[in-house]
Amino acid sequence: MTKYTFSKLSILVSVVAATLFVTPAHAGDATAATLALIKSTITADTVRADVAELSSDEMNGRFFRGPFAEKAAKWIQTRFELIGLAHGATSDSYRQPIDKNPESGPNMIAIYPGAGDGFIIVSSHYDHLRPKSTGDDKIFNGADDNASGVSGTLAVARAIKACALAGNGPTCTIIFIAFNGEEEGLLGSAAYAKSPTVPLGQIRGVFNMDMISRGPPRQIFIDGGKVGEPVVAALKKANESIGLKLRLDEHPDWLDRSDQGPFLAKKVPAVLFSVEDHEDYHQVSDEVSKIDASLAAEVAQLVALAAINMSHEPFTARAEAPKPVKVAEPAAKPDAKPAPTDPAKALHTTP
Ligand SMILES: [Zn+2]
Repeated sequence: MTKYTFSKLSILVSVVAATLFVTPAHAGDATAATLALIKSTITADTVRADVAELSSDEMNGRFFRGPFAEKAAKWIQTRFELIGLAHGATSDSYRQPIDKNPESGPNMIAIYPGAGDGFIIVSSHYDHLRPKSTGDDKIFNGADDNASGVSGTLAVARAIKACALAGNGPTCTIIFIAFNGEEEGLLGSAAYAKSPTVPLGQIRGVFNMDMISRGPPRQIFIDGGKVGEPVVAALKKANESIGLKLRLDEHPDWLDRSDQGPFLAKKVPAVLFSVEDHEDYHQVSDEVSKIDASLAAEVAQLVALAAINMSHEPFTARAEAPKPVKVAEPAAKPDAKPAPTDPAKALHTTP
């Protein structure tokens, strides 16, 4: 390698510096600026702070039905408002009921509105488990499962708002959803897929985070199968700037075991971000002190960048499956009951 003398080096530095100051912005700059803003907005500290609050004993495990589901929903609502997200369930509410029971917490839905074609969903579930009846520690804090995913969702929302303020935001609407009832058998995401707030054929992709803060450093599993391929393609490209170790499609058995499932079943491109089960999975020891907040932050950075990039791609809505034609049924035939959830199969179902 050639050694520059001091004077030559200083001239070179001056020229390069001058070039940097006078060169007008070109296409590459927006991406670099966007990436820098995403990385400075989404930090391990902010993610850890959110996980600490949402997984605190005051939340009592965030069982999907009752006062603590409501407490968690209110906590999420406050954050949606602080970030400055618009109502996403209806024109004047963040809340989408998951069933007819008034004690059930709602899905919490907010939007960053964009004028471009299609919609992108960034999601996670906020519910966890009912406290144990005995023992010194009775509360299932669910720090990794899934305060980490909700914190990641909020972090993506903050980054997208920051990028938008800087003129580099997404061009289509981004929908942020904190689902309820995941642990009870994907109740919230199934309710959403049945009554979506936007046509399913217009959803470009779903980024669903469920347990993103444990395991080996800088490693995350991403599963979307055949249907999820467009989202995985966007993530692989964005990861050229983030550099996480992506373990792709190694767990086809996970596809129907978190909230991406009801979307994939309706052919909506969707993926799950998750870590493998660990010793604190569905234990009272799943606490904030155990999480890898850096991993959760980098996963959120990856999602934010991929979502913004994806919004700039051309998009044509998919044709939706035609509604089944109603044929005359034999008299008094009862409606088919939904298949019961097999607890042994469900990823995040009460043991
Ligand atoms: Zn979970």
